[in-house]
Amino acid sequence: MITSINDTIAAITTPLGTGGVGAIRLSGEKSVEIVSKIFSSSPDKKELPEFKAGRIYHGWVAKSHSYHDSSIKDMNSSILIDEVIILVFKTPNSYTGEDVIEIQCHGGINIVKNILNLCLETGARMAEKGEFTKRAFLNGRIDLSKAEAVLDLIHSKTDKFTRVSAYNLSGKLSLFINELRNELINLLSLIIAAIDFPEEVDEPEYRFIEEKINFIIEKVDNILVTTGSSNLMRQGVKAVIAGKPNVGKSSLFNALLNMERAIVTNIPGTTRDIIQETIDIGGIPVTLIDTAGIREIENDHESHYIESIGINISKSCIKEADIVLFMADSEQGFTEDDKIIFEEIKNKPLIKIASKADLKLHQDLSDYIPVSSKTQLGLDELKKHIEKVILSSDNLQESEFSTNLRQQECLNNAKEALINANISCENREVQDFISIDLKSALISLGEITGEVVSDEIIENIFSNFCIGK
Ligand code: GDP
Repeated sequence: MITSINDTIAAITTPLGTGGVGAIRLSGEKSVEIVSKIFSSSPDKKELPEFKAGRIYHGWVAKSHSYHDSSIKDMNSSILIDEVIILVFKTPNSYTGEDVIEIQCHGGINIVKNILNLCLETGARMAEKGEFTKRAFLNGRIDLSKAEAVLDLIHSKTDKFTRVSAYNLSGKLSLFINELRNELINLLSLIIAAIDFPEEVDEPEYRFIEEKINFIIEKVDNILVTTGSSNLMRQGVKAVIAGKPNVGKSSLFNALLNMERAIVTNIPGTTRDIIQETIDIGGIPVTLIDTAGIREIENDHESHYIESIGINISKSCIKEADIVLFMADSEQGFTEDDKIIFEEIKNKPLIKIASKADLKLHQDLSDYIPVSSKTQLGLDELKKHIEKVILSSDNLQESEFSTNLRQQECLNNAKEALINANISCENREVQDFISIDLKSALISLGEITGEVVSDEIIENIFSNFCIGK
């Protein structure tokens, strides 16, 4: 729970690790005061710039023995932490709408932690998950759909999802929703004016109201038909590579990933763990899972026992998979071992691959996609095929927006209320009654942008963010 919006918060905004740059962000009215206590333009003596908005300052962060008074006075009696640059943003022109200072230091775990600790010791409070973006929302800098787009952008694993999330962040979804809300507000105004001033204002014709409602329903439907593709871009699919030991699963996994992630050997059963990585296939995040080979094993041998654990995992993985990439060896054709595995997967959306296609292709596998991880032959065709299978499994429609489950629920609620209003219209109910459903649709649409939204929903959304965002 966020305690107060009046306090000043701080957090490390870069991933914890070693890198060129690390950053600590502060937001709140004490940001400048806090940074003044720990920063100096000179490594030798205390020199404090004026910290003007939109300016970048170079200097040092140092830990003083005491922060009473105002700050470090004599840099020699302080411990230098790092050479930094400071970016200053003043309210209201900042990410959160408050005074924001970003301290950019060298990217070492200890450095960023030390600087954050200094900020906390000198008056800042540790930011909670998503608190910077939450403040941006509460201060009216961004609406809720833009805040959610920030989260999507951060977590996006494909170019396509990054693109549509950036569209949402730029305000495309908000604009679309606001246009619909305006249509509804205009319609409601006509109805309410006639209810409030029956002497002076005629009530709008029922046919006119129906036309307007149908127009809005059509627009809502235009977004709702894209939920399949939104959910696919967001959640992606799981593709499991299945096949007997040594058929070439790990090699295919590495080839599709274009890196050596799985261990490849010619000893059957070397992949005993599940290894997974996400790749971008046609804008869809496909989590590729390399499994231990499924095969009959003897349980009396310890190493085989370990392998059997892997085999059980791979069977459960196959159950959860959205697609199975089934591999059979080009030279060997469809063997007894392959048959056992095929029984496990035959009811899944399936792509049949003839592995090691640089070798001679067995006639059994004439309807298999020939792929050689060694020569890269057939890899592009395989990716196209995977995309085709994924897209055909759902009624997908391209969209320039992406909507999440919460937004989809709001749209569905709005549509339901609009349909009810339309039924009331057809039945020529009193317009006061119709306006109740229209107001309800307006509220549901307003929940998407955060115009009308409960604290609980806000907490829920921002709890999915990381600290520092
Ligand atoms: P897994 O047990 O199914 O994961 O199989 P691996 O990927 O470990 O491969 C088993 C063996 O087949 C290794 O010796 C690989 O070098 C070899 N292999 C894998 N893919 C190909 C390929 O496309 N062509 C040829 N010629 N050999 C391959």
